[in-house]
Amino acid sequence: MAALADVHGRRLRNLRVSVTDRCNLRCGYCMPEEEYVWLPREEILHFGEIAALADVFLDLGVDKVRLTGGEPLLRRDLPRLVAMLAARPRIADLAMTTNGILLAEHAAALKAAGLHRVTVSLDTLDPDRFARLTRRPSHAQVLEGIASLAPAGFTGTKLDTVVIRDVNDGELADLIEFGTRAAAEVRFIEYMDVGGATRWSPAQVVSRQEMLDRLERRYGRIEPVVETSTAPADRFRLPDGTTFGIIASTTAPFCADCDRSRLTADGIWYLCLYATRGIDLRGPFRGGAGPDELTALITGAWRARTDRGAEARLAVGNRQPLVQIGGLKRDPHLEMHTRGG
Ligand code: SF4
Repeated sequence: MAALADVHGRRLRNLRVSVTDRCNLRCGYCMPEEEYVWLPREEILHFGEIAALADVFLDLGVDKVRLTGGEPLLRRDLPRLVAMLAARPRIADLAMTTNGILLAEHAAALKAAGLHRVTVSLDTLDPDRFARLTRRPSHAQVLEGIASLAPAGFTGTKLDTVVIRDVNDGELADLIEFGTRAAAEVRFIEYMDVGGATRWSPAQVVSRQEMLDRLERRYGRIEPVVETSTAPADRFRLPDGTTFGIIASTTAPFCADCDRSRLTADGIWYLCLYATRGIDLRGPFRGGAGPDELTALITGAWRARTDRGAEARLAVGNRQPLVQIGGLKRDPHLEMHTRGG
């Protein structure tokens, strides 16, 4: 079959699979509210259903799968799903993004199950700031989780930091240096106005350029790392050779190369982080649709895909949060923690 491409010629390669909408943190940029509407339990895909849907995507050219949440390690028995996916050699890159709290207890099992790489969210090195930012006192467990990865045999670890002005933007250098000690590469993510970020304001965004300017003042000349990749991060090198990434989703979106789509824990497939509607795969799958019907559904949707969500947001004047709280309560699928960030 010819490679499946959308209206802008973008291939379908990268599938982010959310295994739960639950999270054990309440980060201000993602889950700032006190109450949330959760996906009904009976609608959450079983591991066998996820694996069967993954097979349809693999047939269509997907070769990168990332497990996300919510917090994926809240899903019971996750290493069993990892083992099922790792048994599919067409997945060249099988990764997971986690907040790290439960990582220390699961790292060895995840490695044994065949997980290739782990990305840990780490927004601060300061336990008090962590507690304010996440409304949970779990900073030490996150650091333990990161420390457990290398002994478990993981390499290629990444640490993702959402940079917010006057919150953690004074920690850029400290985080890079922590990453070096932890054998992990830090990636700074511009604060995004996605669903769930109801407290977002443009004034809190620290742009890629500003981050680079600040780091150059500290370290001297920073060189871009030249590479061809559809990864969202642009990578840079400090004079001592340390590398780090910046994901400039807010000020310099990379929609033109976007090969990513997202499957929620209840089987709704989203073609863009900013999409307001998804395609229900659970309904047809549970209704008896076979691989051919699911292939037709996915192929038709991807061929018609025009999404360039972050670019469209860039063109909006007087930019405000994407969805107001009422809209999020009516449809929890609009939440970033539901669709896997
Ligand atoms: S905004 Fe949408 S199209 Fe653009 S990079 Fe993100 S997911 Fe891809």
